[in-house]
Amino acid sequence: MKVLSGLNLKEIEQITDDLGATKFRARQIHNWIYLKSVKSIDEMTDLSVKFRDELKKVAVVSEIKIKVKQVSSDGTIKYLLEYPDGECVETVLMRFDNRANLTACVSSQVGCAVNCSFCATGKRGFIRNLSYKEIVEQVLTIQRDTGLKVTNVVFMGQGEPLLNLDNVLKAMDMFNENFQIGARRLTVSTSGIIPKIKELADLDMQSTLALSLHAPNHQIRKQLMQIENKYPMAELHKALKYYTDKTGRRITIEYLLIKGLNDTLESAKQLAYYLKDIKCNINLIPYNPTAQNDYQRPSNNSIMKFKALMEHSGKKVTVRLERGADIDAACGQLSGKAGK
Ligand code: SAH
Ligand code: SF4
Repeated sequence: MKVLSGLNLKEIEQITDDLGATKFRARQIHNWIYLKSVKSIDEMTDLSVKFRDELKKVAVVSEIKIKVKQVSSDGTIKYLLEYPDGECVETVLMRFDNRANLTACVSSQVGCAVNCSFCATGKRGFIRNLSYKEIVEQVLTIQRDTGLKVTNVVFMGQGEPLLNLDNVLKAMDMFNENFQIGARRLTVSTSGIIPKIKELADLDMQSTLALSLHAPNHQIRKQLMQIENKYPMAELHKALKYYTDKTGRRITIEYLLIKGLNDTLESAKQLAYYLKDIKCNINLIPYNPTAQNDYQRPSNNSIMKFKALMEHSGKKVTVRLERGADIDAACGQLSGKAGK
């Protein structure tokens, strides 16, 4: 059985060729899969019943299962999806009231090897990479379930995308060509895998690179993220500079705010200094509680103070709206479990 979701037009043409149908049929099927997001071949109503029956003998729309679906009071939807081998990942759909955007937050791996101290995914360890088809299927599942068209994709679910770069790049190409989601509407977030950041720079990636920096200096970052031992901030700085020089694109710096740890005046000063010659925007992420540690979220007052200090350094600063915390769908809360 062929799975239609995740196939490009050429691959669908191979199936229609084998069935002795025209290339136009492939185009129709492709539309049903990516733009109209049907759940079954029977819904492809501009194909004859006879042809649909033939197609059903060799292909299915998808093999992915929605294991759990949770809807947050703010409209965020979290899905726990199951692949045929039984492995599960989350994918999250976020909508923001004031915008028409529908953003899918996708997973790139099952679990994650990077094991940052603040993140629920890391606690699981690394299980396996997702193929590009499995990544693309997450967005298709959202579209099929909601009947809506996803407009933006962020690689901020489970996993470190740059440690599965081939599949992530292929998935991005698919989003581009098959979903008609422009490169500028795709964001890849990384914990800072230096050689891969350089690779993306050399590829002249047109999508947004987000870097999970989270600390103003080596000491604090080491405490928060083991990866600082392998890829320290001083080296990272060179890679970021290389990236922005080469691509001309602005990086998004993600900075987790943890009470008393990296939200002080001194931290703000050091962070501003570190970023002074890097073309970037700063996205502050107030820490979302997870069961695994006892970090705390700073008060709104200190979040706003930190923001003002960073703005003073001339950068554009935003505070990430917390989405879906009541269903454990917020950043860092994805663990592949069915939830509360
Ligand atoms: N592995 C990639 C992408 C997935 S995580 C990365 O780390 O960049 C997406 C974002 O959520 C990252 O910036 C991550 O550091 C952040 N995050 C992890 N745990 C969090 C928590 N408990 N509260 C808030 N943000 C968290
Ligand atoms: Fe992995 Fe990102 Fe979580 Fe760190 S924050 S453990 S890199 S998913």
